[in-house]
Amino acid sequence: MDIKENIKSKPIRKDSSNLHSTLMMKDIDSVYTSSTMDQLLSTIGCFDYDVVEDETFWSDQVFTIFDINNDNSFVPTYETLLTFIHPDDQSYYDQAIKNALHQSKSYSIEYRIVDKNSVIKTIREQANIIVDENGNSIRIIGTVLDISKIKKTEKLLLEKEQPFETFYHSLDTAIWSMDANMEEWIFCSNAIENITGFPADLFLNYQLSWTDLIHPLYIDHFYINYQKVLSGQDTNMQYKILCRNGEEKWIQERTIPVLNEKNELIRLDGIISDITEKKQIEDKINKLAFLDDITGLPNRVTLEKRIESQIQKLEDSLEAFALLLIDMDRFRQINDSFGRAVGDQLIKQIAFRLTECVREKGVVARMVGDEFCILLPNVHDIDAPVKLAETITQSLQELFIIDNYELYVTASIGISMYPHDGKTSEALLSNTDVALNRAKKLGRNIVKVYSPSMSMEAHRVFKLEKDLRKAISNQEFFLVYQPIVDANTNMIKSAEALIRWAHPELGIIPPSEFIPLAEENGFILEITDWTLQTACHQMNQWRQHGLPLVPISVNISAKRLLRNDFKEMINQILIETKINPSYIELEITESTLIKNEQVIINRIEEIKKLGVRLALDDFGTGYSSLIYLKQFKVDTIKIDRFFIQDLLTSDAAITKSIIYLAKGLNMSVIAEGVETKEQLNFLRDQNCHYIQGYLYSKPVSSDDFQNHLQNEYIAIH
Ligand code: C2E
Ligand code: CA
Ligand code: CA
Repeated sequence: MDIKENIKSKPIRKDSSNLHSTLMMKDIDSVYTSSTMDQLLSTIGCFDYDVVEDETFWSDQVFTIFDINNDNSFVPTYETLLTFIHPDDQSYYDQAIKNALHQSKSYSIEYRIVDKNSVIKTIREQANIIVDENGNSIRIIGTVLDISKIKKTEKLLLEKEQPFETFYHSLDTAIWSMDANMEEWIFCSNAIENITGFPADLFLNYQLSWTDLIHPLYIDHFYINYQKVLSGQDTNMQYKILCRNGEEKWIQERTIPVLNEKNELIRLDGIISDITEKKQIEDKINKLAFLDDITGLPNRVTLEKRIESQIQKLEDSLEAFALLLIDMDRFRQINDSFGRAVGDQLIKQIAFRLTECVREKGVVARMVGDEFCILLPNVHDIDAPVKLAETITQSLQELFIIDNYELYVTASIGISMYPHDGKTSEALLSNTDVALNRAKKLGRNIVKVYSPSMSMEAHRVFKLEKDLRKAISNQEFFLVYQPIVDANTNMIKSAEALIRWAHPELGIIPPSEFIPLAEENGFILEITDWTLQTACHQMNQWRQHGLPLVPISVNISAKRLLRNDFKEMINQILIETKINPSYIELEITESTLIKNEQVIINRIEEIKKLGVRLALDDFGTGYSSLIYLKQFKVDTIKIDRFFIQDLLTSDAAITKSIIYLAKGLNMSVIAEGVETKEQLNFLRDQNCHYIQGYLYSKPVSSDDFQNHLQNEYIAIH
C-alpha cells in the first residue's frame, strides 16, 4: 500500500478530540507569508510513527527530504531515524521526542540531518502525540519541512542587517523613523541615549515624548517646522533640548517626509545630531566678530547694526534715539606711564561703570581704544542723553584703583540725536564724532551736543587741509609782526613773526586753525622754512631801506627741528640774506624739548653754534622746571599768556617765581598776551620788562611794522 495512501486511509484510531491538536498549519502560517505558502506545502513531508511497533511511515516528500529512494519496504525504526540526524543534534532530538511522548505533548523542533550525499539540511518537525484511553502515547503524527533555504536566507538577512543595525547604533547621530498615519515609532537608534541621556526604548514605548525634551524657548519654532514636515516638506531645524542630566544641548534635526505614490505622507525619517560643540565654536567666533574681547561689550560692528535696526524700527514714528560718544581724556598718558596691562584693566573698569550708568536703558559698545558709544533709545528730547552724560562724567571722575595705582580719568562726550542730526548710522556716528571733537577742543571733561554748525566746521577743516598744499606756491601766506617792547623805555626790543593765510575763498585764516592741520599732515616742514626765509628776507629789505633792525623771533615746529638738514637750512638763509645770526631767535615750545630730549639737545647745540638765539615759547604750560631746562641753553623765556590773563587772581605766585628764577639763570623774560595796564604794572614791579601784547600792539603787517621800526618806540594809548 502506498504510504501516502496509507496515511490518508489509515483511520485515526482515537476520537479526534483526543488529539491535542491537528497539524500545526496555523503556526507555519504565522511564520511564512501566504505567497510562499503553496511552494512550502508541496515540500512538507508527513509521517506517522507507531510507538508500539516502532515503525515509521513516510510520505514521498519525506523520502525526498532525506534523499532516500522511495522504497515502500523501507519502514525506519526510531534507531534508524536517529542515524539520519546530525551527530551534534542527536541527543537533543532524542530528548525532545522522549519528553513529548512522556508528557503526551505536541512539539516543534528544529534539527539537522545529514543526507546520503553528506549534505546537511535543517529540518523543522512539528508533531502531535496520540494517546490511548489510558493516556499512553501510542503514535506521533507530524510534518517535516526542509527549512535549510529559509535558514540560509535568514542567516544572510541577519548578516546583512546586523552590520547596518550595528552601524546605525554606533553613529553619534540618532536616526529614527515614524509611521506618519499611526504616529508610531518604527525605529530609533541608540545614539539618542548618548545625546539625551534617555534610552531609545523610552521613546519607542511611548514613555517619553520627544517634545517633552524641547527647551520651552524653542517649542514654537519646533511646531512651526513640524507643520512643514507634515505638509510634505523636507526640513532642517536647530533647537535646544534639555537632557536627562539637566544639561542643555543644541540639536540639529533633519526630517524627511516619505510619501506614497498618491502623495500621501506615510512615514517620517529623521536624523538628530548634537551640534552643541559646533554652536559653542560658532558662539566664540561670533563673540570675536561682534564683541570686544577686553570688555565683552558689543563692538563697533554690532553697534552699527543696532543703530541700523533702531532706525528701521522707528521709521515713520515720531520717536527718537540718542548716541553718546565717550572718549577718555589723555588716556595715552596712562598707557605710557603705567603700561598696557593697567590701561586694559582701566578700560574694563570704565566699561563696567558705563554699563552701570546705562543699565537696561541702552546699549554700551566699545568702539576703539578708549572710545565708547552708547545707543539710548526711547528718548524724546536732548534732556535724557545730556543727563546720562552728566551721570557718566561724574561716575568716571571717581577714583579707579588698579594694581595699587590710584588713577583718575575724565571723559569728553559728544551727543547726537536721531533723526534730527542724521538719518543713517554713518551720518549719526560721524556727527557724534564732530560733537565729541568739539568737546575735546573746548578743554577736557566736557559734554557737547551736536549742532549743524559743527559739521560745517568739519567740512571747513577738510577743505583747509586740502587747500593747504597749494598755499605756498599760490603765495597765499604772509607774515605779520608783533612788537616786543621794553616796558621801562617803551623801545621796541624785538618782534615775533606770525604767519597768516589769505585763503582765496575763506579770507584770512588764523594759524590756530591751520597750523595743527599742517602739523598733522607734515606740511609744517615747508611752512617753517618759508617763515624763516620770509622773515630773513624781510629784515634784509628793512636794512636796505636803512631802518634800525631788531631781532625777529620765528616759531619752529619740533618736527622741523628734528630733521637733520635743519641747521644747514638756517645757515643757508643767513648767508643768503646776510643777517646776523644773533638777530634770529627760534621759538620752541616747552613740550618739544621734553619729548625728544637727547636728539633735541644735540640739535640745539649745533644750531646755537651758528649764533642764533633760542626762546622757550608758552612757558608754564608743560610744568617743567626751569633749572632742568637750563641744559638747553635757552636765552629767553616767554611766559604763556594764560598765566598773564590770571596774573591778578590766581597765578601771581607762579609768575613771580618764574620771573625770579629766569633772571637768576640769566635768561630774558617776555610776558606774552599783556592786555591791561594792571598786568603791565604788576610785571614792572616784578622786573619783567619785556612785554608782548595787545596793550602795545597787535601783530601788524610788514609795512606797519616798518613804521614802528622807524619810530623805535611804541607808546601805550
Ligand atoms: P604763539 O607763538 O604763542 O604766538 C602768540 C600768539 O598770541 C599770537 O597769536 C598773537 O597774536 C597772540 N597774542 C599776542 N598778544 C596777545 C594779547 O594781548 N592777547 C591775546 N588774546 N592774544 C595775543 P597767533 O598769531 O594767532 O598765533 C597763534 C599761534 O600759532 C602761535 O602762538 C604759534 O604757536 C602759532 N604760529 C603762528 N605763526 C606761526 C608760524 O609761522 N610757524 C609756526 N610753526 N607756528 C606759528
Ligand atoms: Ca611764539
Ligand atoms: Ca607763545
